[in-house]
Amino acid sequence: MNFEDEVKRRRTFAIVSHPDAGKTTLTEKLLLFGGAIHVAGAVKSNKIKKTATSDFMEIERQRGISVSTSVMEFEYKGYKINILDTPGHQDFAEDTYRTLTAVDSVIIVIDHAKGVEAQTRKLMEVCRMRKTPVIIFINKLDRPGNDPFDLLDEIEKELQIKVRPLSWPISQGPSFKGVYNLFEQKLFLFSDENKQTVANDVIEISDVYSSELDQYITPFTKKFYEEIELVKEVYPEFDRSTYLSGEVAPVFFGSALNNFGVKELLDCFVQIAPHPGATITDSRTVSPFEQKFSGFVFKIFANMDPNHRNRIAFLKICSGQFERNVPYYHVRLKKKLRFSSPNAFLADKKSIVEKAYPGDIIGLPDSGNFKLGDTLTEGEVMNFKGIPNFAPELFRYIENADPLKYKQLAKGIEQLTDEGVAQLFTQKSNGRKIIGTVGALQFDVIEHRLEHEYGAKCRWEPINLHKACWIESSNKTQLDDFRIRKYNSLALDKHGREVFLAESPYSLQMAIEKFTDIKFHFTSEF
Ligand code: GDP
Repeated sequence: MNFEDEVKRRRTFAIVSHPDAGKTTLTEKLLLFGGAIHVAGAVKSNKIKKTATSDFMEIERQRGISVSTSVMEFEYKGYKINILDTPGHQDFAEDTYRTLTAVDSVIIVIDHAKGVEAQTRKLMEVCRMRKTPVIIFINKLDRPGNDPFDLLDEIEKELQIKVRPLSWPISQGPSFKGVYNLFEQKLFLFSDENKQTVANDVIEISDVYSSELDQYITPFTKKFYEEIELVKEVYPEFDRSTYLSGEVAPVFFGSALNNFGVKELLDCFVQIAPHPGATITDSRTVSPFEQKFSGFVFKIFANMDPNHRNRIAFLKICSGQFERNVPYYHVRLKKKLRFSSPNAFLADKKSIVEKAYPGDIIGLPDSGNFKLGDTLTEGEVMNFKGIPNFAPELFRYIENADPLKYKQLAKGIEQLTDEGVAQLFTQKSNGRKIIGTVGALQFDVIEHRLEHEYGAKCRWEPINLHKACWIESSNKTQLDDFRIRKYNSLALDKHGREVFLAESPYSLQMAIEKFTDIKFHFTSEF
């Protein structure tokens, strides 16, 4: 197969949802169809069910699962599918947002009884910001839930995106009969036998107005006809370009647990979802069809084995072909690196990859060369954009609790913040170190990992902070004035950029109003 076709047949996406909507179940069913696994239950949910006081074994276990299910790849009908997993727990939302920078499209799972939930809203915000094409899967139709029209209205309003149903449910809950596939104009009837494997026992009816149909879906026939007429009236014809531009989200209905509506979703997905697109760098836009290799690191994971401090850097390939053992240029370090054992991710196992193409994710074993956002090329100096840090909302001073282990602590903090577990700020006035996170659980994770992986002990001390935001201005006089007045509230981030530590929403507001020439940024990328 030629290079261009290899790029075009790739589908790199993430499945996201509010916890419990059915993301793990759906992922697993997709893997079943792809032949990547053979029985259900092979994919472990990477949910942290406990709260901030969770025991650390749980965190460790979760990290193990997260490594192995970070990327799942399989072949389906000539397409190469790469699914990127995202943590369900909201304390790890930042990790999810970063993963979304490496995908070309997203499937959002919504529980049809619960409708749009908090996490769904936030995730959609990120997709909207990046204009990522979105497909919505409404799950758990085997349970009673909302009227589909009401639910679609709610989605349009709450998620601020137009929808277009491509399948339609016939009843729901105990009387759920099946879904009509509007995309292929076929009807699939539901039987609620336990479907833990892929069985081809759906009844397929091409002519929805045949008497045969009535016999299966009675007494819902009339209502069904009315509803599909209404769908045609209310929603414009499906137009792929509006999906690709992120304006319209196609919607599917089904039940992931019962393996129902999943194949229709997948079949349509591979046809309409985008292949890898262009990626923006600080100097130019890179097309995936360029012959020269380039890619960026969007995730770093510490190795689970405490005896090996090795990590895995996850690289998304943006252009050209990646080959094992070929030296590539690490732009930030200004040096060439060669990878003898890059990993591909095949469901539950890892394997060495010889060649990879745009859209693919490979794991690079790393002993400290990589930071989030690093770019690899064949020599060109450019940096991929769009891997932001988000303004953290929880802060604590981090202090050394073991004077003999100062070095270990410093190294641990350095590496953990490289991984994006949390952000580090150094206060300008006194040099104290502040850790900022988006979720309380990260403090536990950091303390635990510092001790177990670096042999260091830390102590947390409270700090009264509302938000940290990056500042920038071309008005030097005003910036200098700001620096003098706010000296005690200034810090530097890891990369030496200036950060304003606002004590309260009020002080932030005042600063924004008073210093009109200073820009206050809530993500690090500007
Ligand atoms: P996640 O948190 O989004 O990954 O959700 P899971 O996939 O772990 O599912 C949460 C719960 O919902 C589990 O108990 C699943 O068995 C259940 N579930 C998933 N899909 C369905 C479905 O279609 N119908 C029903 N009744 N339950 C489902």
